[in-house]
Amino acid sequence: MKVIVIGGGASGMMASLASSKNNQVTLIERNDELGKKLKITGGGRCNITNNREIEDFFDKVVTNRKFLYSSFYSFTNRDLLNYFNKNNLEYKVEHDNDEKVYTKSDKSIEVIETLKKDLIKNKVNIIYNKKVIDLIVENNAVIGVITQDNDKIFADKVIVATGGKSYPHTGSDGFMYEVLSKYHTITKIYPALTPLIIKEGFIKNLQGISLKNVDISCKINKKTISKFGDIIFTHFGVSGPCILKLSSYINKTLEENEITLKFDFLPNIGIEDLSKIIRKNPNKNIFNNLKSLLPSNFLKEILNHLNLSEVKSSDLSKKDEARIIESLKNLNLTCIGSKGIKTSQVTCGGVSVKEINSSTLESKIIKNLYFCGEVIDVDAETGGYNLQIAFSTGYLAGSI
Ligand SMILES: Cc1cc2nc3c(=O)[nH]c(=O)nc-3n(C[C@H](O)[C@H](O)[C@H](O)COP(=O)(O)OP(=O)(O)OC[C@H]3O[C@@H](n4cnc5c(N)ncnc54)[C@H](O)[C@@H]3O)c2cc1C
Repeated sequence: MKVIVIGGGASGMMASLASSKNNQVTLIERNDELGKKLKITGGGRCNITNNREIEDFFDKVVTNRKFLYSSFYSFTNRDLLNYFNKNNLEYKVEHDNDEKVYTKSDKSIEVIETLKKDLIKNKVNIIYNKKVIDLIVENNAVIGVITQDNDKIFADKVIVATGGKSYPHTGSDGFMYEVLSKYHTITKIYPALTPLIIKEGFIKNLQGISLKNVDISCKINKKTISKFGDIIFTHFGVSGPCILKLSSYINKTLEENEITLKFDFLPNIGIEDLSKIIRKNPNKNIFNNLKSLLPSNFLKEILNHLNLSEVKSSDLSKKDEARIIESLKNLNLTCIGSKGIKTSQVTCGGVSVKEINSSTLESKIIKNLYFCGEVIDVDAETGGYNLQIAFSTGYLAGSI
């Protein structure tokens, strides 16, 4: 059987490999290289997957987790790591970093090289610098693709692995959503895993300060969403792993409404204990009493903002003590937007899962048309889960 895979990212390469066991596969990539987005993952280190049990992955999927059941179980994180093991790619598990799995060398390029070498070994025909601009569909079945230079390439099966809309310079710029919308419902696109913009101006003074173990919560449709982790203040607002995670849960609401985010910078210290620490040494100013708990530059800015930086603990009023506690354990900041799809790590939205058979990833509308990876309306938290989605769906779409 002749198979065309459109898109040479993580999902397309895995789909090509899985399919190449029994078929003649052509992989069409618009760039002059494979895995351009893969190269920038994990800050160039590639957080390949996560070391948790595959059962635990579902909780980390933000959109359409049930749809991924067959994909995750067809090709689990252990299968992926076994695959890399067999193909001599060394990896490491960072137990103290949320069980994330990275390349041992901290070089994402090794993942691409490993996959590419295997594609060549398995005689996958890779065509570079060719952009697919349409599908050829006859009698509700796909029979091939049309490329930008008006070539028609025919096949018995077409797998769409063209990714999302974020970081458009990597090749996944959302163009294929337009093409696919002729045949399928494309759900609304939102940025996911994206930094957030904060209204309060004093936040600019905190620019560059990073904090560990922050608890952030907000209310969306009466439901409390809370995330825990590291954050960094920027000139426009907040970023860092905890913020990125949270953004995926609030992106739809954020499009129309401001959202109040509540920051607890000391989640392990109760209000009474914090009050005692503030009063610990009455002759010292508050900064000195608190400086072991939080980075000095952060504390200084917060106390400056409250006009309490020079106040001695013994001179502190009850009301001002409450203001300090409120700022450290329940700081309300107004989120007025996100940095948008171009800088979001993942796209929320895409080909509607209602129109894809989750056991095979074949279109329910066009016969012999399959989907894998981020082009589908699925997205997950940070931690290696998005790449596992790409590899698992790629494997399933290719092996059917
Ligand atoms: C900065 C950043 C860091 C990230 N870090 C991580 C991480 O560490 N761990 C993790 O799990 N996830 C991470 N992600 C998310 C992850 O990279 C994506 O979810 C994943 O790459 C999606 O794979 P894909 O194959 O579906 O799409 P892509 O990797 O986007 O691949 C799609 C390919 O299709 C090609 N293409 C598109 N349209 C056409 C066309 N019309 N014709 C021909 N070719 C076409 C594109 O050029 C591209 O090469 C990160 C994302 C970003 C942006």
